[in-house]
Amino acid sequence: MTNLKQVDAYLETHLQESLTELGDLCAQPSVAAQAWGMEETAQTVAQMLQKRGFAVEIKETGGFPVVLAERQGRGDKTLLFYNHYDVQPVEPLDLWDSPPFEPEQRDGKMYARGVSDDKGHFVSRLFAIDALLKQNEELPCNVKFILEGEEEIGSIHLPDFVKAHTEELAADACVWEFGGVDYRGVPMQYLGLRGICYVELSVETANSDVHSGLGGSIFPNAAWRLVWALNALKDEDERIRIPGFYDPIIPPTERDKELLAALPPVAEEYKERYGLDHFLKGLTGGLELRTAAVFEPTCTICGLTSGYQGKGSKTVLPAKASAKVDFRLVPEQTPSEVVQQLRAHLDAEGFSDVEIEFLGGGPAGRTDPDDPFVELVVDTAKEVYGIPMELDPMGGGSGPNHAFVHYLNLPVVTAGIGHPGSNAHAPNENIRLDLYLKGAQHIARILTAFGEE
Ligand SMILES: [Zn+2]
Repeated sequence: MTNLKQVDAYLETHLQESLTELGDLCAQPSVAAQAWGMEETAQTVAQMLQKRGFAVEIKETGGFPVVLAERQGRGDKTLLFYNHYDVQPVEPLDLWDSPPFEPEQRDGKMYARGVSDDKGHFVSRLFAIDALLKQNEELPCNVKFILEGEEEIGSIHLPDFVKAHTEELAADACVWEFGGVDYRGVPMQYLGLRGICYVELSVETANSDVHSGLGGSIFPNAAWRLVWALNALKDEDERIRIPGFYDPIIPPTERDKELLAALPPVAEEYKERYGLDHFLKGLTGGLELRTAAVFEPTCTICGLTSGYQGKGSKTVLPAKASAKVDFRLVPEQTPSEVVQQLRAHLDAEGFSDVEIEFLGGGPAGRTDPDDPFVELVVDTAKEVYGIPMELDPMGGGSGPNHAFVHYLNLPVVTAGIGHPGSNAHAPNENIRLDLYLKGAQHIARILTAFGEE
């Protein structure tokens, strides 16, 4: 049996050691979008697992490699951890208070690109495993890890990889890459993720930029073409105009609404945190805002590029324009269907010159809120955080959980070290050290309860 007091004592006394290991991993850039440091980081992650007695394989995917690891435990059950070793780009660099790849601790936090998303979650899990191995030669249950290197670029190859490796990945339950507390400090359980369909739209109207005095009246302008095409995607009332887009959607169940209604209001917190003065569609708060935030699909312009954007003026007529657009999807929308519908819509609206490049995505995935593993994770959280974990039936973000739910048939739960001010994907990404410790304590308890129940 595991003595959790001793586990906690180990975690408390070895915290800085674990943070040093996390710092070393964060110092190693692994920006998937820029193909920067990927193979090296996969190797580093593999070594970190090997050091803990895991049998590790680095598997090719057609993109960045996947790291698979496995270690037998005392019990028969197998817990699978999903993490990723890639991070988001660091730009804009001038908004960081300390360099993104030079981890720094200050004011009870640690700052670095990837320290929260997702290296901190991964290393905190290893930390929990260290504490358990300090006490017993074997872990309470079998443990597997799958770490991918493409999460931040849409997990392009992961669903097919999971589908093709169901035996290696066979498990009884899965702990997702993230988890943590909300703005009140309450640990949250996110039971679903929206899907995503990420595309780049581009248009080219000439073989080079042209003097705007020469072409302004008579040449097509790529920037205008793109703006008009984008205008055809969504109305000002936020209704997405693509025919058939809303057809496959399954609305939230009564149980979903009951869970959403039990969650605290977020409207004022969002307004303050992000400096907003209103929400879309006349939403003011309550269950309507919560439901819309996660059970409705989106069409978001993530970035626009064309022509001259430097200092002062440059009278130029752009030959090229492009936009990155993401659609967050709800059950049962699929990215392939959305791309088809988008193509048909652009053609029908007169924009067959606008090209669509699919950059990745996957459908939404959900776990039954009443699954016994959810209960185990919720119960063990209470021991660590002192307050009950609350269930959120659907998160607004996306990830490849659909593959784990559908190909591996696993309940997928969240448990981790995150907090709302972590600035994931933004400058000054950080973790709170107190939550890092709690996250490791929770993981140690999950492993123990799962193996010994
Ligand atoms: Zn991320």
